[in-house]
Amino acid sequence: MVKHISDRVGVMYLGNMVEFASSNELYDNPLHPYTKALMSAIPIPDPKEEKKKTRIPIEGEIPSPVNPKPGCRFAARCRYATDLCRSETPKLEEIEKGHFVACHRVKEI
Ligand code: SF4
Repeated sequence: MVKHISDRVGVMYLGNMVEFASSNELYDNPLHPYTKALMSAIPIPDPKEEKKKTRIPIEGEIPSPVNPKPGCRFAARCRYATDLCRSETPKLEEIEKGHFVACHRVKEI
């Protein structure tokens, strides 16, 4: 629904924008690990295709937004987290034209 009524979409996690792009770009080419997991959870209205789909699980508890730890707010639940992720907040940067992502490892994963 969001894809069809929006020109651009921003994805937030614990109050921080983690990804922002045109609707088509975001749905066709999600780059942030949280966005990838969200997109993998969208049901496909074809039972055969839905069965073939690989869902990316997000494990762990949602941290408290009241007193967040330093670094990336998704680090406690991210399979790619490193020490840098746990100490430094990633900035929202333009990775491709009009496609912004806040992730230290976006170019590696
Ligand atoms: S900055 Fe690190 S912890 Fe945060 S999403 Fe990227 S890889 Fe995961």
